[in-house]
Amino acid sequence: MDRIEKAYKKLSEEGLKTTEPRRVLLEFLDKESNKHLSCDEIYERISKDYPHIGVATVYRNIQLFEDLNIVSKLTLDDGIGRYEFSNLDENTHQHHHLVCVKCNKLFEVKEDLLGNLEEEIEREHDFNIIDHDLKFYGYCKECMKQEKK
Ligand SMILES: [Zn+2]
Ligand SMILES: [Zn+2]
Ligand SMILES: [Zn+2]
Repeated sequence: MDRIEKAYKKLSEEGLKTTEPRRVLLEFLDKESNKHLSCDEIYERISKDYPHIGVATVYRNIQLFEDLNIVSKLTLDDGIGRYEFSNLDENTHQHHHLVCVKCNKLFEVKEDLLGNLEEEIEREHDFNIIDHDLKFYGYCKECMKQEKK
């Protein structure tokens, strides 16, 4: 089952219908998840192909997806919520994020890299780790280049 199907399942478990805006939003988020877009940006892009889907509908449904843990919100210093698909796969852990403190861009680190640390924590604390949420703060390549000029 892919993550869109898992999202549909979550909606139906809540007795919610898969309306057109929900379907459009989920398909869009599935494709553009790694861009970490805000509600306004999602609305802007969706409305090009679906002009009848209003901004309030986008906000309402993104909020609903967040409540159902279908999407995750990332908030940076600028206070703007950015959205991506939640990690709905029990067998893998969430990717890490690199946050540039200058331009507020987000980058993904796909590799888990925490295997040894997780094992150690589980052993030391008698704790079963199922996932994590990790942000690294710093300067991106572009901002470092600018700094040198
Ligand atoms: Zn991990
Ligand atoms: Zn930057
Ligand atoms: Zn991400």
